[in-house]
Amino acid sequence: MTSDIAPPVGSVRWRNWGGNQQSVAVDVAAPGSVDEVVAVVKEAVATGRRIKAVGSGHSFTDIAVADDLRLHLHRLSAPMSVDGHLVTVQAGMPLSALNMLLAGHGLAVPNLGDIDAQTVAGAVSTGTHGTGLGHATLASVVESVTLVTGSGTVERIDASSPLFGAARLGLGALGVMVEVTLRCVPAFTLLADERPMSLPDVLAGLDEHLATNEHVEFYWYPYTDRAQLKRNNPVAADDRPLSKFREWLDDEFLSNTVFGAVCRLGRAVPAAVAPVSAVAARALTARSYTARSDRVFCTPRRVRFTEMEYEIPRAALPEVLDALPRIISRLPFKVQFPVEVRFTGPDDVWLSHGYGRESAYVAVHQFTGSAYEPYFRAVEAVCAPLGGRPHWGKLHYRDAESLRPAYPHFADFLAARDQLDPHRVFTNPYLDRVLGP
Ligand SMILES: Cc1cc2nc3c(=O)[nH]c(=O)nc-3n(C[C@H](O)[C@H](O)[C@H](O)COP(=O)(O)OP(=O)(O)OC[C@H]3O[C@@H](n4cnc5c(N)ncnc54)[C@H](O)[C@@H]3O)c2cc1C
Repeated sequence: MTSDIAPPVGSVRWRNWGGNQQSVAVDVAAPGSVDEVVAVVKEAVATGRRIKAVGSGHSFTDIAVADDLRLHLHRLSAPMSVDGHLVTVQAGMPLSALNMLLAGHGLAVPNLGDIDAQTVAGAVSTGTHGTGLGHATLASVVESVTLVTGSGTVERIDASSPLFGAARLGLGALGVMVEVTLRCVPAFTLLADERPMSLPDVLAGLDEHLATNEHVEFYWYPYTDRAQLKRNNPVAADDRPLSKFREWLDDEFLSNTVFGAVCRLGRAVPAAVAPVSAVAARALTARSYTARSDRVFCTPRRVRFTEMEYEIPRAALPEVLDALPRIISRLPFKVQFPVEVRFTGPDDVWLSHGYGRESAYVAVHQFTGSAYEPYFRAVEAVCAPLGGRPHWGKLHYRDAESLRPAYPHFADFLAARDQLDPHRVFTNPYLDRVLGP
């Protein structure tokens, strides 16, 4: 699912998927080998230039904005090796291609987010995650990464290196990622169960749902007490596939075509949003089907939006959900997108949102072109004091000073950055803000 609004790769002009970040680079390069990446980095160091590697442009923050030299890694997207469950690919490979490759070897990534358009490098570098208390960020299944550092050296970093905690989720600040080895699992089928419920009923059963299901998430529909609960569990047989018509109806027509039209109506006629949301929430239907894991995890998203997602300690979720209706009712505009709530278990990746704790993730969205900042800031004002950590690839308003206490290894990450990118070849305004200059 690549963007149909972004300028073509190779243009100095660039726009992210959400359309809220743009840049004009001085130059663009698309290296076809690790040696070419090394040459580009050495040249940049020698001439005092800055480099920003970009993936598929699916971050909402300005994390991938290049103002000097933009590096596209789409020519570095080949499979490298499959050794048991350890799969090594070049880092520019899109997740959709990774999933196909793995399926061909009877393997799969244990957990994925909502889409498969991101590159492997982009997804691991920002802490991309799915849902499930027995799972963590995609970075947590990385066995090793190979980086071209800010000195132009090529370093393979694995668990034997003191830099491993930093390099798996590096925000693009530590080097150009050229290869990634992922710890995969045998291919599996998921049974998806999606059903409308009242939000109080979802919350009353939440601990039980989380304890008895592998992957749990729910959507809450603003201006209503309605929610959609989604539970995905591995099963032995792929014996309940969706008909092609139902798949098209739900995932393409209702979720994209109709939802897009409803969003455009709501943007033009804000008074229609609350009643339409109530009707839409009432119209939700239940479905249950089986499919290959990645086809359940990832669905097409064609309605463009902007998003902020906050990780909070799992125990803090009720406080945030309690605040949301009040926040939304006081906004000077309407909220058209449901709020998505997911869960992960702890990992040991230094800048992972889920570092060291069970997490709930609360994601708020607005239709592209609609106002969002007062909404996102108000949600951040609730989440940040609870120890919340913003998703690195999704909008937020935090800086290095406020993020430092949220991450026990923040200082260690900065030391790794000093070591791997001493000349700050890879910095940009976003990294200056969240890590310091
Ligand atoms: C529709 C949509 C759905 C999404 N769903 C989810 C979800 O379910 N869960 C979730 O957690 N997130 C989700 N996201 C966020 C998304 O996963 C992240 O923003 C991810 O980083 C995007 O990957 P990308 O390839 O587009 O990277 P980009 O956004 O292009 O870049 C992200 C970062 O990676 C760096 N980078 C890219 N390539 C390299 C490289 N080779 N070497 C070093 N650094 C590199 C960039 O410099 C930048 O810092 C979603 C985003 C969208 C638009």
